[in-house]
Amino acid sequence: MIMKKIIKSKNISNESLDGWLIDHCILTEGNLISSIIPESKLPNDYEKKYEVIDLGNSFVLPGLIESHAHFQFSATPDAYKIYFEENDLQKMERAKNNAKIALYSGVTTIRDLGAPNELIFPLKSLIDNDEIDGPEIFPTGTPLTIENGHCWFFGAIANDTKEICSIIEKQLKLGAAHIKIMASGGYFTPSSNPRISQYSFKILNEVVNFCNDNDTYLCAHTLSNESTKSCIDAGVHNIIHGRWFDKSLDKSYKFEEDYSKKISDKGIFVDSTISKHLLEYESKLKGEKQRKPNPNVINSEPTLEEIINIFRKLDNDNVDIIGALDMGMSQAFFDKCVASAWAHVEWLGFDHWKAIRSITSLNAKALKIDNYKGSLKKNYIADIVSFRSDPTLNIRNLETNPNSVIKAGKAIKINGQII
Ligand SMILES: [Zn+2]
Repeated sequence: MIMKKIIKSKNISNESLDGWLIDHCILTEGNLISSIIPESKLPNDYEKKYEVIDLGNSFVLPGLIESHAHFQFSATPDAYKIYFEENDLQKMERAKNNAKIALYSGVTTIRDLGAPNELIFPLKSLIDNDEIDGPEIFPTGTPLTIENGHCWFFGAIANDTKEICSIIEKQLKLGAAHIKIMASGGYFTPSSNPRISQYSFKILNEVVNFCNDNDTYLCAHTLSNESTKSCIDAGVHNIIHGRWFDKSLDKSYKFEEDYSKKISDKGIFVDSTISKHLLEYESKLKGEKQRKPNPNVINSEPTLEEIINIFRKLDNDNVDIIGALDMGMSQAFFDKCVASAWAHVEWLGFDHWKAIRSITSLNAKALKIDNYKGSLKKNYIADIVSFRSDPTLNIRNLETNPNSVIKAGKAIKINGQII
């Protein structure tokens, strides 16, 4: 028998996520929303036909969608070191725990942007088969990189288009939803240089075409001026970080403003990971230990204000800035998805609903799942989260510990109680 539920709440977000429906109910059948109606329209005998969940005077949103996670990491300043100390079993236990934490914090869908194949695909199966609690994972598996390049220690090494495409084919067979490429060096990997491109424009362009032909999409990590421009010109689907380090230490940083309009015209989604900066900033204020900087960017990092101003410019040019925390990196704990909405309001000046959309419906669009996830409407997956106080009045009312979580119609946490 298909389970039918009625989920009542004083405030339910409307389809377009720009206002509340007052005193409404979400009716679910199995894993889907069958309708959303005013409480006054419920049939007289509804309690006999439905299981009723009353969320009272809460604020109900679609389940949160995190677009940037790495399940294998600890989210502590020594995440890199810990990764090398743990064996495969310990890494898997950590990943399972991270999945649980994310789900209980309201994240029902998550894109993993780079993890060992032997960890992420089994983790996804355990969750899909209901053996452990966790969000639905859209994995990339092992990312593409070069020898000693960014994340070489769990990446697939490939130097030219032919090698890259054969790895992509393998990843798709394993069940990758999308592909991650390290277009520049990265901050996290001491042997790689964030100022240097790992792949040419020509290669990136050919890989984008290959992904389009194979019904997948390319997410490109990029920190250097040269690689960021190549990624934009090549039309990758999703720019990750999108920073502007110059090749030379003297110039340090070189943002080219006209590229902002190009990103917008091409419809490229930008994952700013600015929320991770917010969490690091707040942790630093508390005097907590921070991660060590990459040796190639020491003393030449842009100020927070410079970074914020670049993303404000992008936002002014209508670039889609998506919610993306980089979960697993230092301070980016698995219950902090909402920090992206905080940063978008407090640092980028988004209005509250726009910030909420950046961790729900906009992320669904970026993941190409917006035809069945990311909004509360008929025939969408019944992924639901409720908060105690109104997040449109204060964005920090998006707590890391929401009151209730329902994933694909299944009650996970109701009024503070894990089910
Ligand atoms: Zn990342």
